Amino acid sequence: MTLAKKDLSRHPCFNKAAAGSCGRVHLPVAPKCNIKCNYCDRKYDCVNESRPGVSSAVLKPRQALAYMEKVLEKEPRITVAGIAGPGDPFANPAETLETMRLLREAHPGLLFCLSSNGLAVPDYVDDIAELDVSHVTITMNAVDVEIGAEVYGWVRDGNVVYRGVQAAEVLLERQLTSIRELKKRGVMVKVNTIVMPGINDHHVEEVARTARELGVDLHNLIPLYPNANTPFGKLEEPSKELMRDLRAKAEQHTPQMRHCKRCRADAVGLLCHDRSSELGGDLRACASLKPKSDEEERPYVAVATREGMLVNLHLGEANTFQIWGERGEGLSGGFRLIEERRAPKAGCGPKRWDRLGVTLSDCRAVLAGAMGETPQKALAASGVKPYVCSGFIEDALAAVYGRGDMSIFQARKNGVACGGCSGSGEGC
Ligand code: SF4
Ligand code: SF4
Repeated sequence: MTLAKKDLSRHPCFNKAAAGSCGRVHLPVAPKCNIKCNYCDRKYDCVNESRPGVSSAVLKPRQALAYMEKVLEKEPRITVAGIAGPGDPFANPAETLETMRLLREAHPGLLFCLSSNGLAVPDYVDDIAELDVSHVTITMNAVDVEIGAEVYGWVRDGNVVYRGVQAAEVLLERQLTSIRELKKRGVMVKVNTIVMPGINDHHVEEVARTARELGVDLHNLIPLYPNANTPFGKLEEPSKELMRDLRAKAEQHTPQMRHCKRCRADAVGLLCHDRSSELGGDLRACASLKPKSDEEERPYVAVATREGMLVNLHLGEANTFQIWGERGEGLSGGFRLIEERRAPKAGCGPKRWDRLGVTLSDCRAVLAGAMGETPQKALAASGVKPYVCSGFIEDALAAVYGRGDMSIFQARKNGVACGGCSGSGEGC
C-alpha cells in the first residue's frame, strides 16, 4: 500500500485522538549511535524517544519481523511500527532499511515511523520515501551552534569526528536538510527537543520558530531525565510549570505534543497501556532466534542490467539494480524479480560503495558486466559477493544459487574490463 492510500491519522503520537485505539511498537534493531549527547548514558535506551531503562534486547531485521508477528497476534490494535534506537536508526542503516523492507512486504497496511538525531538522514531520504515511511521524528535541541556545542560531546560523520561548535554546525546543517527533504517528499515530521534547564530552556521558542519555517507538523518538548554518570547528570529535571510555560510559548509557532510517554526503544501497545514487560519474553525469544543459514539472511541477488534480460551493465553505470530471488526451493524452481532498487547517487567517492552495501544488505551477491577493485572490496566487506559476468541473468542466477555452472564467472575472472572505478572509487 502506498503512502497516498494510508490513513496517516492512525499514528497515536502525531494524533492524540487516535491514542486510545491505535498502538505502536518500537523495534530495537539499531544499537549504535553516531553522536554523543551529553545527557545520554549508552547503557540505557536513547532518551530521544525513551525514558531511561536498559534495553531488553537488540533484534536483527528478520528477528524483528518474527517479533512483529507475535506483537500483532497479541495486540492487534498496533497501527505503527517504528525504529527508535536504542541508538540511532541511521547509524545502523543496513539494519534499519532491511527491517523496513521486510515490514513493507509483510505488513503493507501498517504505518512506518523512524526517530533519529538527523545526522545521517540526508543520505537516506529517498529510501525513506520509497519504503513508505510516513512519519519521522528528528531530535533537534538547538538551532544555535553555541548552544549545540554544549549539548553534544562529539559528532561522527564517517571516519571524521567533530567536537565543539564544529560538531554542532555539522549536526544542525544535517538536521535542517533532513527536515526540508522529508517534507518535500510528503513525510510527516515531528521535532523532539529535550529541555535542559540552564542549557537550552531559554531557546526552545527559537527551535519552534525554525520548525515552523521548515513545515514541521508537530513539536515535542521532552523534559530532561538527568542520568547520573553523564555530563548533564547534575542538571535539574525541568518542573511541570516550566514545561507548561515553554509549551505555551512554543505553541505560538508549532503545534505541541503533550501526551508523550517518553517510551523505551522497545515500547509496545497503546500509549496509555504499554505492554513491553508483558511482551518482553517474546522479544528476548525472537532475539535468540538463529537463522537457518547465512543464505537465509541474504535471500536475494542484485543485477546490473540495461533491459532485464542480460547482465550487461558496469556497476558504476547502474542507476538501479534489479533484485532477484528464488521462485521455489530446489533445483527445479526458477527465479523471480522482486523489485527494482535505486542505487546510491554517484559523486560521493568511495563512500558510494559502502552505501551500496547498505542498499543491498539483503543480497548475497551482485552481478555486473564489469566492476573495479575498490567497489569489489567494499561490497565483499559488506557481505555482498561481487561477480563479474555477462550473458543471461537466469544463467548467472542459477550459478550463484548453486544450480548452474560457476565457470560463467571464471571465464571473466580477469575480465574486469573497465578500470574506471578502481582508482577513484567512483565508476566511469
Ligand atoms: Fe544517546 Fe540517542 Fe543521543 Fe545517540 S542520539 S547519544 S543514543 S540520546
Ligand atoms: Fe510517541 Fe513519545 Fe512514545 Fe515516541 S516517546 S512513541 S513520541 S509517546
